[in-house]
Amino acid sequence: MLETQNTQAVKTLDLKMYINGEWTNSSDNKTREVINPATGEVIAQAAEGTVADARAAIAAAKEAFESGVWSDLPTVERAAYLLKIADKIDEKAEELAALETMNNGKPLREAGFDMGDAAACFRYYAGMITQPDGETYHVADPMQAMVVREPVGVCGLIVPWNFPMLMSVWKIAPALAAGNTIVFKPSEVTPVTPTKLIEIIEEAGVPKGVVNMVHGAGPVVGNEIASHKDVDMVSFTGGTKTGKHIMKAAADNMKKISLELGGKSPNIIFADSDFEVAVDYALFGIYCGSGQVCSAGSRILVEESIYDKFIERFTERAKQIQVGNGADPETEMGPLVSQQHMEKVLSYIESGKQEGARLLFGGERLTENGMDKGFFVAPTAFADTTQEMKIVQEEIFGPVVAIQKFKDEAEAIHLANDTDYGLAGAVFTVDGAKALRVIKKLRAGITWINSYHPTYNEAPWGGYKQSGIGRSLGTYGLDEFQEIKQININLEVEPVGWFKN
Ligand code: NAD
Repeated sequence: MLETQNTQAVKTLDLKMYINGEWTNSSDNKTREVINPATGEVIAQAAEGTVADARAAIAAAKEAFESGVWSDLPTVERAAYLLKIADKIDEKAEELAALETMNNGKPLREAGFDMGDAAACFRYYAGMITQPDGETYHVADPMQAMVVREPVGVCGLIVPWNFPMLMSVWKIAPALAAGNTIVFKPSEVTPVTPTKLIEIIEEAGVPKGVVNMVHGAGPVVGNEIASHKDVDMVSFTGGTKTGKHIMKAAADNMKKISLELGGKSPNIIFADSDFEVAVDYALFGIYCGSGQVCSAGSRILVEESIYDKFIERFTERAKQIQVGNGADPETEMGPLVSQQHMEKVLSYIESGKQEGARLLFGGERLTENGMDKGFFVAPTAFADTTQEMKIVQEEIFGPVVAIQKFKDEAEAIHLANDTDYGLAGAVFTVDGAKALRVIKKLRAGITWINSYHPTYNEAPWGGYKQSGIGRSLGTYGLDEFQEIKQININLEVEPVGWFKN
């Protein structure tokens, strides 16, 4: 619940947890400060969940699941709740977008798109579950085989800070649609809109115990969710290192896992592309969201005959990007999400300099025009980078791009695939056959031709290699939250006769 406290100089929100239909403080009454990354101000105090709180939430979700209060509902009734949630998100979209900007830092325009997508995601899954499903198989007489889909049970949902609302919805909407009960942990850095979302879910009348939310630290609350034996599945979005930890923690009771992890995605630009379109999308690919987007086009590979021209135009355009507080409608790029994250990004920039990459522009923290209070880093690009450099191999998750040249199609494909990640990638060329040839060779789950970044509720989202396991969104996103059961019916009820009487 969001309650405003007026006792401090800056009005702060009081973010409680939601366990078994009750808004609660942490069991040890501790709280954590939540910061506006554009101003450094404390905007909220969030209950700091404990292992005991996580266990209480898991117990509530288990009881609600076993009661059938949610999983036994006819799908049209479950869909009606989801549609109500979608309508409420739409009604409050402006307020939600402002809160998202205040907590995450992203420009208002981006936050507005996220709220529209969030409502649409609930509607999409509401529609899907009211469609016919299941299969029947013609097997040997007198048997009839069929397949039904069932919820997995108690699902632990753990999300990051880069799209606080949208990443929550990508999990909550399909998990609820499939009939599961949930224990949800937002990022401790951005709990504001996730809390608001749970308030909306409560207002929509979802029965108590079906949706539970625990705030707090990953190694405490997240780890408990990932390892607890009564959690049947953990669906995680976040860094690859944390994903490996979740996989290990989930192994003990063989939980179902779904992991949406990091990326180091290549954006391949051929000489025969529409040059201005390619430059425009290359900027959007890396600097949208201040580069804090899992699918960011953080490596730009350019065919050598247009390499210098590309660098010149890319630099000219990037220098015009308006950096500032996302609440200002003129702002095109906001701050990084936290001081800690800003320091990590700046350390990667340092490593790029030390490893001998050519710094084209940016490369520093921005402090003018009041930005000194927040966590702003200038749009940054390195050219002439090479494969062994850290800034080419590791996810920076900031407004920092590595630009490299390639001589032909084979080299472009080799460079593109030569990292541990495999989340996304794009190709720019007007030669359709070449575009498809190259895309088919990319070891990545999300790809674009002559575009970058658009994401659809209808299409599966997820990575190859160390970018994850499983898919969000689309029909695949619902599959993740379902078990498949085969039912075999004997149409002639007679003994099998295998053993002599
Ligand atoms: P993170 O891995 O640090 O944290 C993600 C979530 O995991 C948070 O809620 C955190 O509290 C929790 N967590 C941390 N340690 C944990 C532990 N030991 N056990 C259980 N939970 C734990 O990631 P982040 O910094 O919040 O987000 C950035 C990362 O997310 C980037 O790597 C980005 O690429 C990735 N991401 C991926 C996708 C995708 O769809 N593939 C989407 C968005 C973000």
